[in-house]
Amino acid sequence: MSSVSAVRQQGVIDGLRVDNADLSRVIAENSRLQADRLYLASMVETSNDAIISMDMMGLVTSWNRAAWCLFGYEKSEIIGQPVPPLFPPDRLDEEDEIRSRIRNGEVVGQYETVRLHKDGSELQVSLMASPIVSAEGEIIGISKIIHDISAQRHAQEELRTLQAELVHLSRWNMMGMMASSLAHELNQPLTAMLNYVRAARRTMGTTAADTRAGEFLDKAITETKLAGGIIRSLREFIDKRETTRKPEDIGNVLEDSLTLSLYVGAEGRDKIETRFAPGLPLVMIDKVQIQQVLLNLVRNALEAMKDMPDGRLVIAAGTDEPGFIAVSVSDTGPGLAPEVAGRLFQPFTTTKETGMGVGLSICQSIVESHGGKIWSTPNTPQGVIFHFKLPVAEDQHAA
Ligand code: ADP
Repeated sequence: MSSVSAVRQQGVIDGLRVDNADLSRVIAENSRLQADRLYLASMVETSNDAIISMDMMGLVTSWNRAAWCLFGYEKSEIIGQPVPPLFPPDRLDEEDEIRSRIRNGEVVGQYETVRLHKDGSELQVSLMASPIVSAEGEIIGISKIIHDISAQRHAQEELRTLQAELVHLSRWNMMGMMASSLAHELNQPLTAMLNYVRAARRTMGTTAADTRAGEFLDKAITETKLAGGIIRSLREFIDKRETTRKPEDIGNVLEDSLTLSLYVGAEGRDKIETRFAPGLPLVMIDKVQIQQVLLNLVRNALEAMKDMPDGRLVIAAGTDEPGFIAVSVSDTGPGLAPEVAGRLFQPFTTTKETGMGVGLSICQSIVESHGGKIWSTPNTPQGVIFHFKLPVAEDQHAA
């Protein structure tokens, strides 16, 4: 006979009279508590976050499955052990700080830190610690929920690297365009200077003063040639930079550039709509360079619409012409100023106070070096559409 049924029959526990209804309530309450405990234990065990607890001496008292996956220690290896193996040597005092705050009954809010895996590798984690309180209200331990943010951190690092690469390339392109425009612009006056100085040299007489002046003119010729050489070699150095072209999905490339752009921001993103035709063929491109083209066009369009809260920017990609992918960037801004409309793609064409006027000429040189073309048309009822087309890749397998 079970003890419960014995009590039920006798109605007496340790000399006290207990009525059957009370007894049923106690039994029901006990089994509810038992069920709650099991439910909680299974939630802790199956959580994706590491949940661990320790006593106030810092000895581990519980260790769930996710803790094992995250830190690499089996439950049997760590229960009853101090937690320091999880701490990088330079963060050991973090635990003392957590423990003293917990002793004061504080919850140590979510903060990001570094812990160690069993194999010694560093883990980026976000951690929350709270006190474990006994039925008597005494703080008897610490429970910690630890979330692995290594992948998130890694993705952030990658994003930062790509952004830096894009900024670097943008400066490089700008420098290339400046050098090449300077070389072009300075070539003519330098050649003229050289011809004049040579002519002056030829007309010199044979007096001592003429001979002296002739020496100065020779030096001027040498220096002018040197100036021309410096500009030419700068241009050659920039033109020689390597590009890597691979078959790419244009939709992904354009989407990535919007994500990577430090310029676009949330406000700009709200104005932008993308319309990419499904199943577009791949294009053979240097991805970062084409992103540069898109970002220049997007930046110009957003700048043109900066005082227009309802401005819309549509980036579309399709196949209007066989063998090419066509991309268009349409805005609803004020349209092109008449003074720049005819020479948009020439360097140093700008209507902006702080503009360099090389963005569109860089776009043109990138698109044309890919065997494509770039042009603009008016948008209706207002604004501008910039179009560029790129040849589709012969090899239709993404690298
Ligand atoms: P920058 O932006 O430094 O002026 P760009 O070569 O990128 O150099 O642009 C040249 C000029 O073309 C701009 O100054 C502007 O006048 C005009 N422009 C470019 N895009 C747009 C646009 N979407 N709407 C109106 N004007 C534009």
